[in-house]
Amino acid sequence: MLKEENLLYEGKAKRVYKTDNENEYVVYYKDDATAFNGEKKESIDSKGILNNKISTIIFEMLNENGIDTHFVKNLSEREQLVKKVTILPLEVIVRNITAGSFCKRYGIEEGIVLDEPIFEFSYKDDDLGDPMLNDDHAFAMKLATREELKFLREETLKINDLLKDFFLKLNLKLVDFKIEFGKDSQGKIILADEISPDTCRLWDVDTNEKLDKDRFRRNLGGLVESYTEVLSRMNK
Ligand code: UDP
Repeated sequence: MLKEENLLYEGKAKRVYKTDNENEYVVYYKDDATAFNGEKKESIDSKGILNNKISTIIFEMLNENGIDTHFVKNLSEREQLVKKVTILPLEVIVRNITAGSFCKRYGIEEGIVLDEPIFEFSYKDDDLGDPMLNDDHAFAMKLATREELKFLREETLKINDLLKDFFLKLNLKLVDFKIEFGKDSQGKIILADEISPDTCRLWDVDTNEKLDKDRFRRNLGGLVESYTEVLSRMNK
């Protein structure tokens, strides 16, 4: 079904193909893992299959809970049918527990539970290293209107509540995550991209074991085993 001539875009972890329906795309999940803005790169056998399955379950859960997403249906081991959107050049990040670039930037230790979630934007631009930006920057750069920025914050905090509860039932702490939004053909902003252990930090509640892409970033090994564990908790 997926022909080379239909390939629209190839990213670090996924490919996007056009379909016969002008309002729908197919997303194909690859095995490639990258970190540090693409400096560290590896192919990890079956990662794409695991992320497609995990992302499918999460999008279905969010759709059931009133969040509009690009997800239409799962097509195969590595493919999802999604609504066509134009991705906003903003990475939307939420932090519930300190980790990653937050600790590095501010010299704060990892694992501190935050009193309130931190909402953060990065400008999606690999050449610039995805710099952090605030609402005023985003507005000045005409990336979104004030109303859209307000919606992005409110919708993202709702998504955080749903995801935190969902993962806690799996005995997982949602440390932080990155999501992306897109505009559909009517100009409506909906959740897009993927939600998986590539884009979320997930720690076991009892042991604090990392079950996410930090296994790759920090050369801890056992990435496939960790993602498989996350998926198996979802399927119980
Ligand atoms: N994240 C992501 N893609 C990016 C940057 C971050 O999916 O390009 C996710 C990352 O997995 C983590 C959260 O966003 O769950 C916060 O990441 P952080 O800003 O701490 O950056 P990192 O430490 O990954 O460089």
